[in-house]
Amino acid sequence: MGRPSVTVDVGRIEHNARTIVELCGGHGISVTGVTKAACGQPEVAEAMLRGGVPQLGDSRLENVERLRAAGIAAPIMLLRVPMLSGVDEVTRLIEVSLNSEITVLHALSDAALRRRSVHDVILMVDLGDLREGVWLDDVISAAGEVLRLPGVRLTGIGANLTCYGGVIPTEENMARLVGFGEAIEATHDIELTWISGGNSSALPLIAVGAMPARINQVRIGEAILLGRETAFGAPWPGTHQDAFVLRGEVIELKRKPSVPVGIRTQDAFGREPHFVDRGDRWRALVNIGEADTDVSGLSPIDPGLRVIGGSSDYTVVDVTSAEPAIQVGDELGFALSYGALLRAMHSRYVDKQIVPWRQC
Ligand SMILES: *Cc1c(COP(=O)(O)O)cnc(C)c1O
Repeated sequence: MGRPSVTVDVGRIEHNARTIVELCGGHGISVTGVTKAACGQPEVAEAMLRGGVPQLGDSRLENVERLRAAGIAAPIMLLRVPMLSGVDEVTRLIEVSLNSEITVLHALSDAALRRRSVHDVILMVDLGDLREGVWLDDVISAAGEVLRLPGVRLTGIGANLTCYGGVIPTEENMARLVGFGEAIEATHDIELTWISGGNSSALPLIAVGAMPARINQVRIGEAILLGRETAFGAPWPGTHQDAFVLRGEVIELKRKPSVPVGIRTQDAFGREPHFVDRGDRWRALVNIGEADTDVSGLSPIDPGLRVIGGSSDYTVVDVTSAEPAIQVGDELGFALSYGALLRAMHSRYVDKQIVPWRQC
């Protein structure tokens, strides 16, 4: 059956992971390989491990279960702060979790003790991106409360940037994170193992040697999966951007005007698309839609093609300049944005095809 498919080139993912691990390793930074955009696909995790990451990270317990079911025994970090209702599973499946809620930490501690174990936690500090994390004045006292819980071990602090508020890591805000770590150490007379400084947006700072020395961990997804840093959205030197390619089939091909005919309102998603009159164009409808991916995040591999829109079940591609000409039944390939990758890997309508390992 002609379903859309994502090809997953595990050799390229391994290569990307190795490139990032070597870069970060040169600056004393350990890389946690983040599998969440790949829906915890075990082959992706295995490729990251072969590339040298010592630990995996995912945001969903379902994905972690998938990794464990595939026999992956590497330590796994839970990236989304745990649910109060999920602490038992967290202590069962996970070695270390990112945390910001004292109530949840109490429950995690109790759950770990019931298992006669101790659960490692990293306390998240909000440096201004306004997603998860303890806010400024509360950091030192929150750390003190965690230290009083017998079932959890405070192994470090961390911060996440650029995901919600779009704030990028700088020498200044990273130094502020280190400052919080050192204040916790001084106040509570402890040593933190990890200061977990961020995600793929941290790479530019690391590469120029400006990351403060005490930052010794980053959690990297996009730069390994798609070969891009996320502070400026640039391809990362020495990595592949096409480890994932989404492919679909042309199911209608017609020459039509480039501007809709009639009185217009919003599209099916409440958007108001903008049309440029380029005269009559050859338009291909592809069997990929918003139910399969984020259509706005698709970039045709063939430079002669242009995505001009989409709806639940179709992507519309201007194929007028394609060489050779496109025909009904042809397969078109697309590179993916982070959002497009995330949705394609999670869509049950999209087949996932693992490209056998090869040297690259
Ligand atoms: C998703 C996530 C990451 C990885 O982000 P990338 O931009 O894909 O590198 C790191 N940390 C946390 C807390 C996350 O949720």
